[in-house]
Amino acid sequence: MNIHEYQAKALLHEFGVPISKGAPVLRAADAYPAAKSLPGPVWVVKSQIHAGGRGKGKFKEASAGDKGGVRIAKSVDEVTEFVEQMLGATLVTVQTGPAGKQVNRLYIEEGSDIDKEFYLSMLVDRETSKIAFVVSTEGGVNIEDVAHNNPEKILTFSVDPATGIMGHHGRAVAKALQLSGDLARQAEKLVTQLYAAFVAKDMAMLEINPLVVTRQGQLRVLDAKVSFDDNALYRHLDVQEMRDETEEDAKEIEASKYDLNYITLDGTIGCMVNGAGLAMATMDIIKLYGMAPANFLDVGGGADKAKVTAAFKIITADPNVKGILINIFGGIMKCDIIAEGVVAAVKEVGLQVPLVVRLEGTNVDAGKKIIRESGLNVLPADDLDDAAQKIVKAVKGAPKA
Ligand code: GDP
Ligand code: MG
Repeated sequence: MNIHEYQAKALLHEFGVPISKGAPVLRAADAYPAAKSLPGPVWVVKSQIHAGGRGKGKFKEASAGDKGGVRIAKSVDEVTEFVEQMLGATLVTVQTGPAGKQVNRLYIEEGSDIDKEFYLSMLVDRETSKIAFVVSTEGGVNIEDVAHNNPEKILTFSVDPATGIMGHHGRAVAKALQLSGDLARQAEKLVTQLYAAFVAKDMAMLEINPLVVTRQGQLRVLDAKVSFDDNALYRHLDVQEMRDETEEDAKEIEASKYDLNYITLDGTIGCMVNGAGLAMATMDIIKLYGMAPANFLDVGGGADKAKVTAAFKIITADPNVKGILINIFGGIMKCDIIAEGVVAAVKEVGLQVPLVVRLEGTNVDAGKKIIRESGLNVLPADDLDDAAQKIVKAVKGAPKA
């Protein structure tokens, strides 16, 4: 789960992390009091969307002006003017895709007088099973570009969970950022605070770009992007409350209500499979036969009729889906139950695209019989290979809608 920049900053601040003063704005009427609550003389008006590259982003609406998604204002009036322009407008950045994202929240921040911009991120390194730091003097730019062009400017290290942060970690960061004296001490303290926040809140990723040094000699987190380990969300009610569903894929939210493991992808073959491994294999074989999956969907081992119906509805509601492949290996889950669910779902939501069903395992004959006798236009398949070829052929051969 991801959260907005202003939420990430508030959370980091609980751990003592230095941030600028700021106030979120959800309605245009909040802009004036928000700006007034900050000292000025410079304010920053920041679009809050779950995507980066906002500064260099462009709004689709001409009425939003051409100053990007992060704007410096020199007066309270200018803050309110920017808020009126940006709130509700659609921002397109390198990370949103061409459709962009509607800006429903803004964050007004006290402007910082920036001397230097750095990069600092943390993530769970699966290879070492440790939390890793990535640090660079090259902040405010795309870190992938730095990694490509100037890899020597990036320091990475991981922290042994048995010892936690030690003095040498902080010193290594200060050295990599070429900081000395008081700023080096601020960097060392920051590393400790960030690590504590990361562990305490079960974060999966924390990216600060940029981390800045102000002309007043203060280290400050100017941008923060945080994502959490979904499997640990149950023990962080405060984090769950920060969820902004308008930022998430509607299909994925619907799927999570039914405990379906669903991820939207950009192909055209909708897949319904039980078991993550089988789902991966199904996606691979669709690719092998020249098309791409529209989603990953594992209905799980114990799916019932209601779950299968919900899954089917989610797939058919996706306009990109031009054909559906159901691939079920009945074990704990019986093929006849799946078949009943599929038939019920098709009857309820209708079927506008070809559907191939491959069933195998427990009660397979009963399952096939249900499909056969349903009178629905379903193509049966014998094995995975056959199923993939059939759906690809059906979609390629289908008249263009
Ligand atoms: P992003 O474009 O989505 O990564 O948004 P950021 O929060 O990183 O802001 C983009 C850029 O705006 C930063 O890299 C800074 O150069 C600039 N910026 C943000 N806040 C301030 C500020 O308080 N003062 C100044 N001078 N520039 C700022
Ligand atoms: Mg940034």
